[in-house]
Amino acid sequence: MENNFDAIVIGSGISGGWAAKELTGKGLKTLMVERGRDVKHLKDYPTTNLQPWELEHRGRVTAEIKAENPVVSRCYAFKEDAQHFFVKDKEHPYLSEKPFDWIRGYQVGGKSLLWARQTQRWSDFDFEGPARDGFAVDWPIRYKDIAPWYSYVEKFAGISGNRDGIPQLPDGEFLPPMEMTCIENHFREKLSADYKDRQLIIGRCAHITRAEPIHKEQGRVNCQHRDLCRRGCPFGGYFSSNSSTIPWAEKTGNLTMLTDSVVHSIIYDEKKGRATGVNVVDAKTKQMTPYYARVIFVNAAAINTNLLLLNSVSSRFPQGLGNDNGLMGKYVAFHNYRGRVSAEFDGLQEYTTDGRRPNSTYMPRFRNVHRQETDFLRGYAVGISGHRSGIGAQGWGESLKEQLLHPKEGIWRIGGHMMGETIPKASNFVSLDKERKDEWGMPLINFSIDYDDNDEKMLEDFFGQMKEMFSKAGFTNIRTTDSKQAPGLDIHEMGGVRMGNDPRTSLLNKWNQLHACKNVFVTDGACMTSTGTQNPSLTYMALTARACDHAVSELKKGEL
Ligand SMILES: Cc1cc2nc3c(=O)[nH]c(=O)nc-3n(C[C@H](O)[C@H](O)[C@H](O)COP(=O)(O)OP(=O)(O)OC[C@H]3O[C@@H](n4cnc5c(N)ncnc54)[C@H](O)[C@@H]3O)c2cc1C
Repeated sequence: MENNFDAIVIGSGISGGWAAKELTGKGLKTLMVERGRDVKHLKDYPTTNLQPWELEHRGRVTAEIKAENPVVSRCYAFKEDAQHFFVKDKEHPYLSEKPFDWIRGYQVGGKSLLWARQTQRWSDFDFEGPARDGFAVDWPIRYKDIAPWYSYVEKFAGISGNRDGIPQLPDGEFLPPMEMTCIENHFREKLSADYKDRQLIIGRCAHITRAEPIHKEQGRVNCQHRDLCRRGCPFGGYFSSNSSTIPWAEKTGNLTMLTDSVVHSIIYDEKKGRATGVNVVDAKTKQMTPYYARVIFVNAAAINTNLLLLNSVSSRFPQGLGNDNGLMGKYVAFHNYRGRVSAEFDGLQEYTTDGRRPNSTYMPRFRNVHRQETDFLRGYAVGISGHRSGIGAQGWGESLKEQLLHPKEGIWRIGGHMMGETIPKASNFVSLDKERKDEWGMPLINFSIDYDDNDEKMLEDFFGQMKEMFSKAGFTNIRTTDSKQAPGLDIHEMGGVRMGNDPRTSLLNKWNQLHACKNVFVTDGACMTSTGTQNPSLTYMALTARACDHAVSELKKGEL
């Protein structure tokens, strides 16, 4: 196989798929290296069309599998029909000084096959947050820098949503929104009446609700509302690398895929003063081969990107590639998903809602937006879903038939979960173990990440505010729960290789290039200076497309 390329992309998940699409589309011969197996759209979704009775355990994972996989089985999507897309605990061990639930998908498409597809833009309330509130470092970009790239990726990926006109959650290039249920609409109306600064909106999600020519050209059609997304969607109804960016990149004829291939390290040439390629370990034979390129995109997902860069040592960079200031691996942050709330509603019995909706509703952050109003920094968004209980048929035989023929409907219920911003800190970090290595010769990563006082205060505020909002809206039996889940289960881990203006306090510049090694770009969650409250993947996609554009223009100018 040819060993020389114009570009190398490490990882084929959400951000790597975009890097491959953009770089190949701009004419670069690109090698995409993926540590996991190939997963071809349509062909490799083994459970996608199975009926419930065709799944041996009716969709549940067995007690044995749970016992063998205490970490991954805590993820709500780790079900019988999707377990083959998750990394099992024993196959890829890691160390955690403090509990961290690291949820991974090692295959072509990465976690793009598993994600819940919620996609919200950031605003300047997020990009200006660290500077305003005095934590982390200032972001080197503002909303105006990324806004055109949000539009660019939204049009291609297909994002459904409503234009709500909320300053802290800018509108995007939306396909028609999905509908709210009756109880969600009730809460939306009461909330707007009771609070000037709070809104409930339909989730903005990466589902095609009205296929445009650009989606049909990708071979994708409207979401069928099967709500079986985690199995892989044969309609391409939701955005994944497998159904969208990777086949698009393949069509250019410029993409070479290397699967079952673990990037061990990035090669740095001291004389040239640049990275020249990557060392790749064949996942099966364990043989190492170098591949070379002029530009390298690191998209292994936040923590693996930290691992890979820290493992890329040379005499110029003894602490890891580009890690002159020793900050790589530090300031890792996540989303605080510990808070849950549920309630009941006695009324609206004349209404029901039929069908399935692979989406929920969303309350954008309302705390500390325009001014500091609480004794904790930043705020939280809330994911909310309401339905009428009792719908759906369980069991078997006569009782199942009876429920199908004469469904009995219970009361309306509503539930919400908190999505809190955590503050990046030097004391929340990942590091490489000095002795222990995995099967592929990579050091094991060690997590030292925890909640802090700010997170605890925010959680209490969430409980208090939700109780107040639900009771004002007439809900009863309001219950709050602290899941006490470890960091990581939110699956929004970010940072460690943060962007910033100053090479003394950050690793990447405003174009996602390593300050100290300009032909290496990091555009997955590792680059995030702070976390906002939004689901992060849309921002990774937009940053990736933007960085690719910059990389290609620099290459053309002979600057890289
Ligand atoms: C159940 C679930 C629900 C989620 N819901 C949402 C949501 O609603 N909205 C949202 O924004 N985000 C959501 N996420 C998170 C989202 O999936 C991630 O943010 C996103 O996939 C990150 O993209 P990525 O490209 O950085 O990493 P990934 O998609 O994880 O891809 C990384 C790829 O790199 C490969 N790789 C790793 N190391 C190496 C190496 N050394 N060599 C070669 N290849 C390597 C991996 O195998 C993988 O294929 C969810 C995730 C899960 C699991």
